[in-house]
Amino acid sequence: MVPRALTIAGSDSGGGAGIQADLKTFQELGAFGMTALTAVTAQNTLGVSGVWPLPPDAVAKQIEAVATDIGVDAAKTGMLFDSAIIEAVAEAVRRHGIEKLVVDPVMIAKGGAPLLKADAVEALRRRLLPQALLVTPNIPEAEALTGLAIRTRADMEKAARAIVAMGAKAVVVKGGHGDGETADDLFYDGARVEVLSAPRVATRNTHGTGCTFSAAVTAALAKGEDLLDAVRIGKAFITAAIREALNLGGGHGPTNHWA
Ligand code: PLP
Repeated sequence: MVPRALTIAGSDSGGGAGIQADLKTFQELGAFGMTALTAVTAQNTLGVSGVWPLPPDAVAKQIEAVATDIGVDAAKTGMLFDSAIIEAVAEAVRRHGIEKLVVDPVMIAKGGAPLLKADAVEALRRRLLPQALLVTPNIPEAEALTGLAIRTRADMEKAARAIVAMGAKAVVVKGGHGDGETADDLFYDGARVEVLSAPRVATRNTHGTGCTFSAAVTAALAKGEDLLDAVRIGKAFITAAIREALNLGGGHGPTNHWA
Protein backbone atom coordinates (compact mmCIF):
# COMPACT_ATOMS: atom_id res chain seq x y z
CA MET A 1 0.00 0.00 0.00
CA VAL A 2 1.28 3.44 -0.90
CA PRO A 3 1.53 5.70 2.20
CA ARG A 4 -0.94 8.57 1.76
CA ALA A 5 -0.18 11.95 3.36
CA LEU A 6 -2.40 15.04 3.36
CA THR A 7 -1.35 18.62 4.03
CA ILE A 8 -4.00 21.16 5.07
CA ALA A 9 -2.07 24.40 4.65
CA GLY A 10 -1.43 27.62 2.75
CA SER A 11 0.34 28.09 -0.57
CA ASP A 12 3.74 29.83 -0.67
CA SER A 13 4.29 31.07 -4.21
CA GLY A 14 8.03 31.14 -3.46
CA GLY A 15 8.04 27.35 -3.10
CA GLY A 16 9.98 27.23 0.17
CA ALA A 17 7.22 26.88 2.77
CA GLY A 18 3.53 25.95 2.94
CA ILE A 19 2.03 23.20 0.80
CA GLN A 20 4.93 23.42 -1.64
CA ALA A 21 7.43 22.48 1.09
CA ASP A 22 5.06 19.79 2.34
CA LEU A 23 4.62 18.13 -1.07
CA LYS A 24 8.36 18.18 -1.80
CA THR A 25 9.02 16.61 1.60
CA PHE A 26 6.33 13.95 1.16
CA GLN A 27 7.82 13.07 -2.21
CA GLU A 28 11.38 12.82 -0.87
CA LEU A 29 10.27 10.53 1.95
CA GLY A 30 8.19 8.23 -0.24
CA ALA A 31 4.64 9.24 0.68
CA PHE A 32 1.91 10.11 -1.84
CA GLY A 33 1.09 13.78 -1.20
CA MET A 34 -2.39 15.37 -1.25
CA THR A 35 -3.46 18.91 -0.42
CA ALA A 36 -6.33 20.87 1.09
CA LEU A 37 -5.44 24.48 0.41
CA THR A 38 -6.47 27.01 3.11
CA ALA A 39 -5.08 30.24 1.69
CA VAL A 40 -3.02 31.63 -1.13
CA THR A 41 -0.05 33.84 -0.29
CA ALA A 42 1.98 36.00 -2.65
CA GLN A 43 5.42 35.44 -1.21
CA ASN A 44 9.12 35.15 -1.94
CA THR A 45 12.33 34.99 0.10
CA LEU A 46 11.86 38.65 1.08
CA GLY A 47 8.45 38.21 2.65
CA VAL A 48 4.69 37.97 2.23
CA SER A 49 3.03 40.61 0.01
CA GLY A 50 -0.54 39.28 0.01
CA VAL A 51 -2.80 36.74 1.73
CA TRP A 52 -6.15 35.46 0.40
CA PRO A 53 -7.92 32.88 2.60
CA LEU A 54 -10.30 30.35 1.00
CA PRO A 55 -13.90 29.93 2.21
CA PRO A 56 -14.04 27.38 5.09
CA ASP A 57 -16.41 25.20 2.98
CA ALA A 58 -13.82 24.97 0.24
CA VAL A 59 -11.27 23.69 2.76
CA ALA A 60 -13.70 21.10 4.18
CA LYS A 61 -14.69 19.92 0.68
CA GLN A 62 -11.06 19.29 -0.30
CA ILE A 63 -10.52 17.15 2.82
CA GLU A 64 -13.75 15.25 2.11
CA ALA A 65 -12.82 14.68 -1.53
CA VAL A 66 -9.53 13.00 -0.76
CA ALA A 67 -10.55 11.24 2.48
CA THR A 68 -13.65 9.56 0.98
CA ASP A 69 -11.86 8.28 -2.12
CA ILE A 70 -8.08 8.00 -1.82
CA GLY A 71 -7.82 7.75 1.97
CA VAL A 72 -5.48 9.47 4.42
CA ASP A 73 -2.89 7.59 6.49
CA ALA A 74 -1.61 10.78 8.15
CA ALA A 75 -2.31 14.50 7.83
CA LYS A 76 -0.76 17.76 8.95
CA THR A 77 -2.09 21.26 9.34
CA GLY A 78 -0.04 24.38 8.62
CA MET A 79 -1.32 27.90 7.99
CA LEU A 80 -5.04 28.00 8.94
CA PHE A 81 -5.46 31.78 9.04
CA ASP A 82 -8.70 32.23 11.01
CA SER A 83 -11.09 30.56 13.44
CA ALA A 84 -13.71 29.73 10.76
CA ILE A 85 -11.13 27.67 8.82
CA ILE A 86 -9.95 26.03 12.06
CA GLU A 87 -13.54 25.02 12.90
CA ALA A 88 -14.05 23.58 9.39
CA VAL A 89 -10.79 21.63 9.55
CA ALA A 90 -11.45 20.28 13.06
CA GLU A 91 -14.91 19.09 12.00
CA ALA A 92 -13.68 17.48 8.75
CA VAL A 93 -10.79 15.71 10.52
CA ARG A 94 -13.24 14.35 13.11
CA ARG A 95 -15.84 13.30 10.53
CA HIS A 96 -13.35 11.43 8.38
CA GLY A 97 -11.62 9.75 11.31
CA ILE A 98 -8.14 11.11 10.60
CA GLU A 99 -6.24 9.92 13.67
CA LYS A 100 -2.65 10.61 12.78
CA LEU A 101 -2.89 14.40 12.80
CA VAL A 102 0.17 16.63 13.15
CA VAL A 103 -0.74 20.22 14.05
CA ASP A 104 1.97 22.75 13.19
CA PRO A 105 0.56 25.85 14.94
CA VAL A 106 1.79 28.32 12.31
CA MET A 107 1.27 31.88 13.53
CA ILE A 108 3.73 34.40 12.09
CA ALA A 109 6.08 34.17 9.09
CA LYS A 110 9.77 34.85 9.76
CA GLY A 111 9.38 38.23 8.07
CA GLY A 112 6.62 39.17 10.53
CA ALA A 113 3.49 38.64 8.39
CA PRO A 114 0.60 37.15 10.42
CA LEU A 115 -0.48 33.74 9.06
CA LEU A 116 -3.02 33.22 11.88
CA LYS A 117 -5.32 35.94 13.22
CA ALA A 118 -4.61 36.77 16.87
CA ASP A 119 -8.17 35.87 17.90
CA ALA A 120 -7.83 32.40 16.31
CA VAL A 121 -5.27 31.10 18.84
CA GLU A 122 -8.13 30.20 21.17
CA ALA A 123 -9.89 28.18 18.42
CA LEU A 124 -6.65 26.36 17.70
CA ARG A 125 -6.30 25.53 21.39
CA ARG A 126 -9.91 24.51 21.96
CA ARG A 127 -10.88 22.83 18.67
CA LEU A 128 -7.77 21.41 17.05
CA LEU A 129 -5.26 20.52 19.79
CA PRO A 130 -7.58 17.90 21.34
CA GLN A 131 -7.52 16.05 17.98
CA ALA A 132 -3.76 16.23 17.52
CA LEU A 133 -1.50 13.20 17.75
CA LEU A 134 1.41 15.67 17.75
CA VAL A 135 1.72 19.47 18.01
CA THR A 136 4.95 21.05 16.74
CA PRO A 137 5.28 24.62 18.10
CA ASN A 138 8.48 26.64 17.99
CA ILE A 139 9.25 28.62 21.15
CA PRO A 140 7.19 31.75 20.29
CA GLU A 141 4.24 29.54 19.27
CA ALA A 142 4.50 27.49 22.48
CA GLU A 143 4.51 30.78 24.42
CA ALA A 144 1.39 31.99 22.59
CA LEU A 145 -0.42 28.68 23.16
CA THR A 146 0.40 28.46 26.87
CA GLY A 147 0.94 32.06 28.02
CA LEU A 148 4.28 30.96 29.54
CA ALA A 149 7.63 32.71 28.99
CA ILE A 150 10.15 30.11 27.76
CA ARG A 151 13.84 30.70 28.50
CA THR A 152 15.20 27.42 29.84
CA ARG A 153 14.88 23.68 29.25
CA ALA A 154 12.64 23.52 32.33
CA ASP A 155 10.37 26.19 30.76
CA MET A 156 10.17 24.12 27.55
CA GLU A 157 9.10 21.10 29.56
CA LYS A 158 6.50 23.12 31.46
CA ALA A 159 5.02 24.36 28.16
CA ALA A 160 5.06 20.82 26.73
CA ARG A 161 3.12 19.54 29.74
CA ALA A 162 0.61 22.41 29.41
CA ILE A 163 0.02 21.61 25.71
CA VAL A 164 -0.59 17.91 26.46
CA ALA A 165 -2.98 19.03 29.22
CA MET A 166 -4.94 20.87 26.48
CA GLY A 167 -5.71 17.48 24.92
CA ALA A 168 -2.89 16.85 22.42
CA LYS A 169 -1.47 13.32 22.68
CA ALA A 170 2.10 14.58 22.29
CA VAL A 171 4.11 17.70 21.55
CA VAL A 172 7.56 18.62 20.35
CA VAL A 173 8.65 22.11 21.41
CA LYS A 174 11.30 23.08 18.84
CA GLY A 175 14.40 24.82 20.13
CA GLY A 176 15.55 26.32 16.82
CA HIS A 177 14.62 29.82 18.00
CA GLY A 178 17.02 29.54 20.95
CA ASP A 179 20.69 30.58 20.82
CA GLY A 180 22.69 27.59 22.13
CA GLU A 181 25.40 25.61 20.32
CA THR A 182 22.79 22.99 19.53
CA ALA A 183 19.15 23.16 18.41
CA ASP A 184 17.43 21.04 21.07
CA ASP A 185 13.81 19.98 20.66
CA LEU A 186 11.82 18.65 23.59
CA PHE A 187 9.35 15.78 22.98
CA TYR A 188 6.68 14.87 25.55
CA ASP A 189 3.85 12.35 25.14
CA GLY A 190 2.27 12.43 28.57
CA ALA A 191 4.69 9.80 29.87
CA ARG A 192 8.25 10.42 28.72
CA VAL A 193 10.35 13.47 27.95
CA GLU A 194 13.00 13.10 25.23
CA VAL A 195 15.42 15.77 24.07
CA LEU A 196 16.41 15.61 20.40
CA SER A 197 19.60 17.51 19.73
CA ALA A 198 21.38 18.60 16.54
CA PRO A 199 24.26 21.04 15.90
CA ARG A 200 22.99 24.57 15.26
CA VAL A 201 23.60 25.64 11.64
CA ALA A 202 24.54 29.28 11.09
CA THR A 203 22.50 30.32 8.02
CA ARG A 204 19.95 32.94 7.07
CA ASN A 205 18.34 30.45 4.66
CA THR A 206 15.74 29.02 7.00
CA HIS A 207 12.52 29.74 5.12
CA GLY A 208 10.09 26.85 5.46
CA THR A 209 11.84 24.97 8.26
CA GLY A 210 8.71 24.46 10.39
CA CYS A 211 6.60 23.30 7.45
CA THR A 212 9.31 20.90 6.27
CA PHE A 213 9.82 19.38 9.74
CA SER A 214 6.11 18.73 10.35
CA ALA A 215 5.69 17.35 6.81
CA ALA A 216 8.60 14.93 7.32
CA VAL A 217 7.06 13.68 10.58
CA THR A 218 3.70 13.28 8.79
CA ALA A 219 5.25 11.29 5.93
CA ALA A 220 6.97 8.99 8.44
CA LEU A 221 3.68 8.48 10.31
CA ALA A 222 1.90 7.69 7.01
CA LYS A 223 4.54 5.02 6.43
CA GLY A 224 3.71 3.42 9.79
CA GLU A 225 6.60 4.63 11.95
CA ASP A 226 5.78 5.05 15.61
CA LEU A 227 5.53 8.59 16.91
CA LEU A 228 8.94 9.12 18.50
CA ASP A 229 10.70 7.45 15.53
CA ALA A 230 8.72 9.72 13.18
CA VAL A 231 9.88 12.78 15.16
CA ARG A 232 13.50 11.54 14.96
CA ILE A 233 13.15 11.08 11.17
CA GLY A 234 11.73 14.62 10.93
CA LYS A 235 14.62 16.04 12.97
CA ALA A 236 17.23 14.30 10.78
CA PHE A 237 15.48 15.49 7.60
CA ILE A 238 15.21 19.14 8.71
CA THR A 239 18.79 19.22 10.01
CA ALA A 240 20.09 18.14 6.58
CA ALA A 241 17.65 20.49 4.80
CA ILE A 242 18.98 23.48 6.80
CA ARG A 243 22.65 22.45 6.47
CA GLU A 244 22.24 22.32 2.67
CA ALA A 245 19.81 25.27 2.46
CA LEU A 246 19.54 27.00 -0.91
CA ASN A 247 20.89 30.49 -1.46
CA LEU A 248 17.99 31.63 -3.67
CA GLY A 249 16.48 35.12 -3.78
CA GLY A 250 17.60 38.18 -1.84
CA GLY A 251 16.16 37.24 1.57
CA HIS A 252 15.74 34.07 3.58
CA GLY A 253 16.41 31.26 1.11
CA PRO A 254 14.53 27.96 1.38
CA THR A 255 15.48 24.76 3.14
CA ASN A 256 16.71 22.10 0.74
CA HIS A 257 14.29 19.20 0.30
CA TRP A 258 16.83 17.21 -1.73
CA ALA A 259 19.33 17.16 1.12
N1 PLP B 1 3.93 30.82 4.24
C1 PLP B 1 3.13 29.80 4.42
C2 PLP B 1 2.00 29.57 3.50
C3 PLP B 1 3.37 28.92 5.49
O1 PLP B 1 2.56 27.89 5.72
C4 PLP B 1 4.48 29.13 6.33
C5 PLP B 1 4.77 28.15 7.36
O2 PLP B 1 4.94 28.33 8.49
C6 PLP B 1 5.27 30.24 6.14
C7 PLP B 1 4.98 31.05 5.07
C8 PLP B 1 6.36 30.60 7.08
O3 PLP B 1 7.59 30.44 6.56
P1 PLP B 1 8.88 30.84 7.38
O4 PLP B 1 9.59 29.56 7.59
O5 PLP B 1 9.63 31.78 6.52
O6 PLP B 1 8.44 31.46 8.67
